[in-house]
Amino acid sequence: DPKIAEAINVQIGSELFSSNAYLSMAAYFEAESFVGFSKWVPVKSDEERAHAMKIYNNLRDRGGIVKLPGLDAPRSDFSSPLDVFQASLSQEQDVTRGIHSIYKLAHEEADYATVSFLKWFIDEQVEEEKNVSDMIEKLKRAGDNPETMLLLDRYAMERKAESEAD
Ligand code: MG
Repeated sequence: DPKIAEAINVQIGSELFSSNAYLSMAAYFEAESFVGFSKWVPVKSDEERAHAMKIYNNLRDRGGIVKLPGLDAPRSDFSSPLDVFQASLSQEQDVTRGIHSIYKLAHEEADYATVSFLKWFIDEQVEEEKNVSDMIEKLKRAGDNPETMLLLDRYAMERKAESEAD
């Protein structure tokens, strides 16, 4: 269905935008010498690109036409790690909204192959939003305490190892 194909192309763009945005966040962390965050966030960037490719491959497998949308520049000015992760949460919520709207459309159009394909992404977004929300809670608790921030930065390094093991 062309309407669904169009929405899927937009979603590929949304995942690619998210990938770029995580890279921009990584650059902020690197500039601010948050070593753990600066190593973990590029792993997130790679994951988002992999999501885009997964959707792209599915669209191609089904004979859909790939027509990628233009992408906005990601934010590069952040005031704190908390600011970064709050931006990350709103970005993940946008991605979730996009997936849910295609899911709804696929149901309406009785495109059950797309319904089935999107289930993995729906579960994945629950996980993504939970991880980012957890980090936001930790950062809020850390406040301006530099020692706690260093611990969280080290924790992010561990998360990198976990993400790579997935
Ligand atoms: Mg994604």
